Amino acid sequence: MQKTLNNLPHKVVFCKKCVISNQRPQSHIEFLHDKKKIGAKYLQMENDGVCSPCKVWKINNNMNWKKRNKELLKLLDKHRKGNGEYDCLVPGSGGKDSAFVTHLLKFKYGMNPLTCTWPPILYTKYGLENYKNWLKTCKVENIVLKPKEYIMKYLTKKSILNILHPFQTFIIGQKNIAPKIAAKYNIKLIFYGESEALYNTSPEEFNNSKVDDKYFSIKNINKIILGGEKITDLYKSNYINRSDLDHFIPISKDEIRKKGIEMHYFGYYQKWLPQEIYYYAFNNTGYRPRPFRSDGTYSKYSSIDDKIDDLHYYTMFIKFGIGRATTDASQEIRNNHLTRDEGVNLVRKFDGEFPNRYFNEIMDYLDINKDEFFKKCDEYRSPHLWKKFKNKWILKHQVK
Ligand SMILES: [Zn+2]
Repeated sequence: MQKTLNNLPHKVVFCKKCVISNQRPQSHIEFLHDKKKIGAKYLQMENDGVCSPCKVWKINNNMNWKKRNKELLKLLDKHRKGNGEYDCLVPGSGGKDSAFVTHLLKFKYGMNPLTCTWPPILYTKYGLENYKNWLKTCKVENIVLKPKEYIMKYLTKKSILNILHPFQTFIIGQKNIAPKIAAKYNIKLIFYGESEALYNTSPEEFNNSKVDDKYFSIKNINKIILGGEKITDLYKSNYINRSDLDHFIPISKDEIRKKGIEMHYFGYYQKWLPQEIYYYAFNNTGYRPRPFRSDGTYSKYSSIDDKIDDLHYYTMFIKFGIGRATTDASQEIRNNHLTRDEGVNLVRKFDGEFPNRYFNEIMDYLDINKDEFFKKCDEYRSPHLWKKFKNKWILKHQVK
């Protein structure tokens, strides 16, 4: 099984500016994931030893936003209906980002947004409260598309046991819901939050306001992988009806074009600073952090709506040596809220902490034997990242 991770860069390199390493999967194109490929591309450290997200954040932090704000006004005027019909769509589950975007669109820009939600697999009570507050304070309607519970459980279990990626099927559904709802309600403008370029791609990509329609370009249904299995193989299961999986199949590029649907990153038009967004959401949309820090990190306010979030970050730590504190600290270093030394200390202290808080509940819910889960984790510890010392797994390379 260890050959599974052979496509990870063999030499571990850490960014000189933040604390991320080149083991981070760069691509979010989850369709391409299969048992042999846990991510098509990995983060490149450039010649100067600095990762591309550090460069993109620098542009984000120093941009002249007035020009982009004018572009936003033009885009909104083009789509504004002013007759009571919805003129834009904001997908979200009640996190700070979607609350921020919805509130600005509605009250600063006078749009009439519809919102839609692909709900977490296991809502935390904090996430559910934030979801309700989002809709209440923004005074918007919301369409929830919740797949059949036994189907989502079945696919999530497969995602864990086949590819150690608890959210693989969830993310696919989440990516697909907005364009389908836009098509149904004749809405031509969709706003996602932060640009993928901030984490994944290149500084050039940050000049693109539109969401890449690569997510919607699947011509061959065989390419869709759910929980490590081809969707066409899942169709053969007695447990699943073909129509149960319709939500995981993207709308076609042709339909998006025919209906004139545009998908934009709000973060292209508006300075995107997670901490500022958090303050805005706290003051305007009733968004609240959890009263405790999340397992595996020091922060309290991001990715807190699904009990499975903590487990998801833990599996990333196993597969790539990159945990939740690395993710949080890298981003805060890029925004000058932490020094690199502070980031290194936080990573050393919290990264890879076991997600105890919800672990038993998740295993019971998904009917996964805990020993089986731990065995699976060990199969995914790539030998270039992990070694056993006195019967304990330790990382071979740590940020310093
Ligand atoms: Zn960096």
